[in-house]
Amino acid sequence: MQYYMPTRIIEDREVVRKNASLLREFGKKAVIITGKHSSKHNGSLEDTIRALESEAIAYQVYHEIEENPSVENVVSAAASCEGVDFVIGIGGGSPLDAAKAVAVLLGNPELEPMEALFGTKQRKVLPMVAIPTTAGTGSETTPYAILTLHKEQTKRNFSIKVFPEIAFMDLRYFLTMGKTTRIHTCIDAFTHLVESYLNTNANSYSDMVCEAGLTSWSKGFPGIAQEVIEEEYMQAFMQASTIAGIAISQTGTSIPHGLGYALTYHHGLSHGHANGLLTPAYLKLFAKKNPEKVRLLLNCSGFEDIAALEKVFAKLLEPIHLSKEQADRYCDEMLQNEAKLRNYPYPITKEELLRFYD
Ligand code: NAP
Ligand code: FE
Repeated sequence: MQYYMPTRIIEDREVVRKNASLLREFGKKAVIITGKHSSKHNGSLEDTIRALESEAIAYQVYHEIEENPSVENVVSAAASCEGVDFVIGIGGGSPLDAAKAVAVLLGNPELEPMEALFGTKQRKVLPMVAIPTTAGTGSETTPYAILTLHKEQTKRNFSIKVFPEIAFMDLRYFLTMGKTTRIHTCIDAFTHLVESYLNTNANSYSDMVCEAGLTSWSKGFPGIAQEVIEEEYMQAFMQASTIAGIAISQTGTSIPHGLGYALTYHHGLSHGHANGLLTPAYLKLFAKKNPEKVRLLLNCSGFEDIAALEKVFAKLLEPIHLSKEQADRYCDEMLQNEAKLRNYPYPITKEELLRFYD
C-alpha cells in the first residue's frame, strides 16, 4: 500500500501575490502557459505577471493553448521558449496539462517530442507550477497530462510523471466560469472521485481522500446550476476537485474516462460532459459486484441511490446518440486500453461495455 503526493497546495485569497517569493527558487525566467481568453478575464494572468515582476523574474507568455491540447500545440508552445527555467500553467486542465508537456519538452531538447513525452523512460522535467481556474480535472495535484493524438484519433496520457511543485488555489479565478463549463468540469471532478473509489488500486489512503472529496462535492452541489454560483458552493467544488486530483494520482481513472475519450474526440463533447454521461453505468456495473462500496459512495455524495443520481445527471447533461457501429468501434478500442481496463477490478465483457453507450 502506498500514498505519494509531493505537490504543495496553497489556498488563499490573492494567493499568488502573497506567495510570490516562493517562485524565486525555480529560476530566473518563467514561461506562462495559458488558454486564449479566460485567464485574461479572471485576474489569474495579471496576478501572476505582477508576482513575477515583484520578484524580478523574467517571463514570456504563450496564450494559444487549445481545449484538449494536441501534441502539435504543446510542441509549438515549447518552440516559442527561450532561456526558460520553469513553467507556470494557468487555466483549466488543458493549459495545465500543456504546461506539464512543455516542462518535459524543455527538459529534453535533444529528443524527438514523441519520444520525450511518450517514451518509456522517466525524463528530466523543468519545475512546473499550477494555477487552476476550473474545478474539474485536478491536474494541479496529479502527475498526469492528457494530450490529443491526431494520428491515432484519440487522447492519451503521456508517460512522464509531472507533479506540480506548487498548486496555487484562489477562489476568485473559479467564479468567472459560465454555467455550462462549471457543470461539466465539476462533474469531471465527481467522476474522478467515483473512478478512484471504485478502482483496483484503491486503498485505505485513497478511499479516505475520496470520501473527503465526495463530501466536499456534495456541499457544492446545490450551486452547480446557479446562474451565478455562490462563493461557498464554488469553494466546496474547488476543494473537491483538488482532492479528487490527489485521489486519482494514487489510483488512476477507469472505464468511463477510457470510453469518454471517443466522445470528446469524435463528437466534440467536453471531457466532463463525456465522463458524466458514462458514470451511472459504471456505478450500476460496480454495484453488481460490490454493492456495499457503491452504497458508501452514494452516502458520501448525498444521493439516495443510483437512480436519483442518474436523474440529476440527465437534467444537467445533454444526451448524445451514437450509431450501433460507432458504439461497437469505441468499445473495441476500449478493449485495447489495458491501462484503463486494469483499473476496473473485475473481468468485463464487450456486452457490458456496450451498455455504457446505451
Ligand atoms: P479546459 O479545456 O481547460 O477549458 C475549457 C474552457 O473553459 C475553455 O474555453 C477555457 O477558456 C474556459 N475556462 C477555463 N477557466 C475558466 C474560468 N475560470 N472562467 C471562464 N472560462 C474558463 O477544461 P477542463 O475541463 O478544465 O480541462 C480538460 C482537459 O483536461 C482535457 O484535455 C482532459 O483530458 C484533461 N484532464 C486532465 C487530467 C489530469 O489529471 N491531468 C484529468 C482529467 C482531465 P480558455 O481556453 O480561454 O482558457
Ligand atoms: Fe477527467
